[in-house]
Amino acid sequence: MSEWLDSEPLVIERAEGHYLYDTDGNRYFDGVSSLWVTVHGHNHPHINRAIAAQLGSVAHSTMLGLVSVPATELAAALVQIAPTGLTKVFYSDSGSSAVEIALKQAFQYWQHKGRPQKQRFVHLADAYHGDTLGAVGVGGMSVFHEVFGPLLVAGISVPNPNPYRFSGSPEQAKAHALSALEEVLSAQHEDIAGLIIEPLVQGAAGMLVQPDGYLSGVAVLCKRYDILLIADEVATGFGRTGRMFACEHEDVTPDFLCVAKGLTGGYLPLAATLTTQEVFSAFLGDRSEYRTFFHGHTYTGNPLGAAAALASLELFERNDVIANMQPVITHLQKELHVRFGDHPNIGDIRQRGFMVGIELVSNKKTQTPFDASQATGAMVCRAAREIGVLLRPLGDVIVLMPPLTTTSSEIDVLLDAVEYGLEVIR
Ligand SMILES: *Cc1c(COP(=O)(O)O)cnc(C)c1O
Repeated sequence: MSEWLDSEPLVIERAEGHYLYDTDGNRYFDGVSSLWVTVHGHNHPHINRAIAAQLGSVAHSTMLGLVSVPATELAAALVQIAPTGLTKVFYSDSGSSAVEIALKQAFQYWQHKGRPQKQRFVHLADAYHGDTLGAVGVGGMSVFHEVFGPLLVAGISVPNPNPYRFSGSPEQAKAHALSALEEVLSAQHEDIAGLIIEPLVQGAAGMLVQPDGYLSGVAVLCKRYDILLIADEVATGFGRTGRMFACEHEDVTPDFLCVAKGLTGGYLPLAATLTTQEVFSAFLGDRSEYRTFFHGHTYTGNPLGAAAALASLELFERNDVIANMQPVITHLQKELHVRFGDHPNIGDIRQRGFMVGIELVSNKKTQTPFDASQATGAMVCRAAREIGVLLRPLGDVIVLMPPLTTTSSEIDVLLDAVEYGLEVIR
């Protein structure tokens, strides 16, 4: 905070497409999609119109005991695009809440099913599922989470399969992580309610990409041991990985799907937790049985947010966004390796779709990290800003998360800025 107080903040005044403008009129490419949320660009006429039209009808009406037109239509649209079998939608207003809801529903599900001892949750090392206490309990990033230890219901941590961190081949990393998971599940499954995972890419951990087949392997183990699978697609959802949802890459239908960040196209805070008829049915019963899921946020299912989300989904379809991303993803992949593959201060380049993490190291050969106190990642990003690209690192990992409608030539602008930023490392 002291550093922040000593610095001159950049004040954003307006935005257009992929660019943000500050109060001095400077233009910046939004290289992290305003923290991973912007999908079709800023100030998009179609989404603007949808919100304005909804504003002319009703800005908010409660979903506690009532429904609204846009929230109803959005639920139907989400069920259409989600992995088959996820037919029930529970709204909230942040990714953390979407995770809390999945954890609480999974916990209560087993109570209703007569297996009340199934109470614990498994998560991956380095996991990030949000900042509320339940989500922190299944988190694995000591820098964010350690201080709150005494407040938490601690989850069970299992190794993540990132080959860079594991320092083996992707196949070895996957086999190691899956066998460690099976060991935990076979010993403790009677006490375990669910497993939570960021499918394909652990975002906040530094874009740790999972080897092919890992996610489907986890899904198989969860089925085998009667563990509810919670896919936290708050970061990976809505096209980020090159498919609508990351789970699609491996044909996985989780028991819960948590979505937020990109849901409204990056416009408004809205989240949803999708689940199956099986889970939903466990909550049905006579009033006296108290099977109700007692959880509801005041602004849940907000109609303006739902209208924005519907407009965003229309744009996905109308503009064939995901198909159009594919050549740009290929271009990004190629350019990353051409430009940075041999860079002496880049230890690893991780990419899945439009999620990129470039890991900075002081020595590539020995994979020695920089001293954290140097804040090298922040320094590189600050330099990139000088030539008009906004980035926010995760420690010494440079994150690239451009809007999904970014073109190949804009990718070049983004990578030029990273190259320029890297020159501060001497
Ligand atoms: C950002 C994020 C969250 C938390 O979402 P908020 O809207 O910030 O509460 C949860 N899970 C993942 C994977 C995220 O990236």
